[in-house]
Amino acid sequence: MRLYNSMTRTKEEFVPIEPGKVKMYSCGPTVYNYFHIGNARPFIMFDILRRYFEYRGYEVNFVQNFTDIDDKVINKANDEGVTYDVIADRYIKEYFVDAQGLGIHKATVHPRATETMDAIIDIVKKLVENGYAYESQGDVYFRTKKFKEYGKLSHQPLDELQAGARISVGELKEDPMDFAVWKAAKPGEPSWTSPWGEGRPGWHIECSAMANKYLGETIDIHSGGKDLIFPHHENEIAQSECANGCEFAHYWLHNGFLTIDNEKMSKSKGNFFMVRDAAKVYGYETIRMFMLSAHYRSPLNYSEDSLMMAKASLERLYTAAENLLFLLDHQSGDIMTAEEAAKMESFGKYRQKFIDAMDDDLNTADALAAIFELVREINTAVKDPNCTKAFVQAAYDEMMELCGVVGLVDHLEKKTIDSEVEELIAQRAAAKKAKNFAEADRIRDYLLNEKGIIIKDTRQGTQWSYKE
Ligand code: AMP
Ligand code: ZN
Repeated sequence: MRLYNSMTRTKEEFVPIEPGKVKMYSCGPTVYNYFHIGNARPFIMFDILRRYFEYRGYEVNFVQNFTDIDDKVINKANDEGVTYDVIADRYIKEYFVDAQGLGIHKATVHPRATETMDAIIDIVKKLVENGYAYESQGDVYFRTKKFKEYGKLSHQPLDELQAGARISVGELKEDPMDFAVWKAAKPGEPSWTSPWGEGRPGWHIECSAMANKYLGETIDIHSGGKDLIFPHHENEIAQSECANGCEFAHYWLHNGFLTIDNEKMSKSKGNFFMVRDAAKVYGYETIRMFMLSAHYRSPLNYSEDSLMMAKASLERLYTAAENLLFLLDHQSGDIMTAEEAAKMESFGKYRQKFIDAMDDDLNTADALAAIFELVREINTAVKDPNCTKAFVQAAYDEMMELCGVVGLVDHLEKKTIDSEVEELIAQRAAAKKAKNFAEADRIRDYLLNEKGIIIKDTRQGTQWSYKE
């Protein structure tokens, strides 16, 4: 598998540190609000990467943190007159509601900054001991210029970075480039006891500490949105590599921006849609489908049209799967014909296309195209009224396997026709036969309006499905 590494700016063959295992860290949300569609992009895309590794037989140790203490969390708590943990607990719970809706699997661990305080303090101590950080009036700063490789991820030379660096009021830094790894407590703010007095961690240090605690000193993959390259990931590298004396991450993966009117969607600009509001209109799974429609590094523009297109595409997959389930109940024949077996084998080319696309830096757009080509062929093949149940089953399994890797068609329940619906469909057929079309239509409307069931007459009989 080849992955685009932001560090080398090339696609590289993925070689894990330990054969068959992947250690992956992804920066998670700051929990002071629901998350928006832009935030959903890395959560969905790196969930797909993780699932794909699992599909290819890797054991994945995946860590995604919750930043549960920072200025935004504290401000929100002050606004509501509650403590910071009330806010953090609430939005962590809400994160899982939306994540589950979007089909994002839980990470192996979801550490919180405030629960990783010992590891954070340990790494700051190490940096102070080896001279890469210094205490200044209860704050602790990283000595940026001492780390000669600083800027290697964002490909910016130190002197250029230096030109943009400023010292804020109240910061007593040796150099404008230095950044806080520990902040002295301000009155009324939550704080933790440390060798430098009461305080709280800087933002970047939590990720260095968590990756180290849960995955070790060197990890395979570190990921996040591309806005995190600088300064967040650059600073994580500086802290981790200076504390541990070894490379922090072998592959750096960054997703492109989710835009709206071609501008980055962000909370600070106010041009955002919360995932749950969009989900009410389009459905959670439509949002996932929409994300898959573009390569994760490309910009992706959010618009009603593109969401409607994603919804229609998803419906095509559901319709195909439901049709196959219907046929499973109605066709017979436990052994495929030779012709069907050959057809099934030829479908292998779509699976190969899917794998080739995913292997090429997670090209989900092409992988989706392969699924749709497969589905189109399956739809045609099962139009044959004599097709065997065995063939339908194999086609269904093939389609669902690929959809499962990317987390689509996740809400399909095998629809067993209950006796009432069966009875009504039979009555309608009898009414039609007797040319009593008014009665046939009445039954159809009753099923639609009272039961939420749509019926469709096909050559193989009357099919029914639940209205969305
Ligand atoms: P935050 O909660 O702001 O720390 O962001 C969580 C994740 O969402 C990070 O990986 C960000 O890089 C990512 N992110 C934020 N806005 C966008 C956007 N408009 N498009 C893509 N990713 C984003
Ligand atoms: Zn991070």
